[in-house]
Amino acid sequence: MSILHKIGISALQGSVLLFYFHSVGSSQREFYPGGISCDALRQLIEYLHDAGFSFRRLSEAYHSVPEKGRLVAVLCSDDGLASVYHEALPILREYKVPLTVFVVGKCLDNRAMAWNHKLIQICRHASEEQLLPYLQKVCNRYHLRAEAQLSQCLFSVPDSGKDAFCDELWEEFCPTDQSSYLAEHEPFLTLPMMRELSEAGAEFALHSHSHADFSRLDYRQMLHEIRHNRDILSDSGYKPAPFFAFPYGRECDRNLLPNLCREASIKACLGLRYRITDNRQQSPLWQRISLEHCTIPSVKELVLKPALRRVKDALVSPNVISSMFRLV
Ligand SMILES: [Zn+2]
Repeated sequence: MSILHKIGISALQGSVLLFYFHSVGSSQREFYPGGISCDALRQLIEYLHDAGFSFRRLSEAYHSVPEKGRLVAVLCSDDGLASVYHEALPILREYKVPLTVFVVGKCLDNRAMAWNHKLIQICRHASEEQLLPYLQKVCNRYHLRAEAQLSQCLFSVPDSGKDAFCDELWEEFCPTDQSSYLAEHEPFLTLPMMRELSEAGAEFALHSHSHADFSRLDYRQMLHEIRHNRDILSDSGYKPAPFFAFPYGRECDRNLLPNLCREASIKACLGLRYRITDNRQQSPLWQRISLEHCTIPSVKELVLKPALRRVKDALVSPNVISSMFRLV
């Protein structure tokens, strides 16, 4: 590690950095094209160890803030994909690194797929030339933005109709029905896999019931998504860690967060835009860093961009300037 790199990392002393990915290895590339390789996971762990980070589960890291002079890393995985068991667990065991897994309630134990998972399969089986005319046909029924590009059109479906919409497309374009697909592929963690992960030091946290876009929900729907997610995990024997990761990183109105955290009994919600001095215990909003575009984060990703985001915030809101000096 270069001197410049070491100086950059030293600026993070006293910080908790949260890193996240979805699938690991190549076994689930067809189900979830994003993700990281097994080699990348090993390299990341070794890199963070060399840089002086120690690894914690999120619930432990949350309570260890602020430890002066310490660097704490939390590894997170979203959606509860089975490759976390098949491919990541042996690596996590080898390096004795814990993991926090954010589980989608309806997907637990392969009971169903969330709409974004269905869309990935639909797009694997249907070309744009097949999908576009079909979307024109159903756009009024599902309130789609038919004039938009394919992905914008697919994602324009209102939250309340997203599952019915994806089910219709699945029926039209996919070769097997959804329950046969789930039984054959088991893309999500099963309960025995979760038990083994838990015994190896992993914890489970919340990622909504239906993988909903919280920037488009009203407050009552948000509460329902988080509570339903928690109920399903609890009914399966797991007391979720009190943290919620926004699906797609799409945050709700920040003014709602204190009430949402209190009423949903969570300590913090997690977004995707880490800024220097983020992730303090009193804040209802913590931020993570994606590993899917940049497996070994450079000083630019870890320090410079987060610092610039903080400066940008300060320019927008003068109150942030004083909070920066309080927190640094
Ligand atoms: Zn997700």
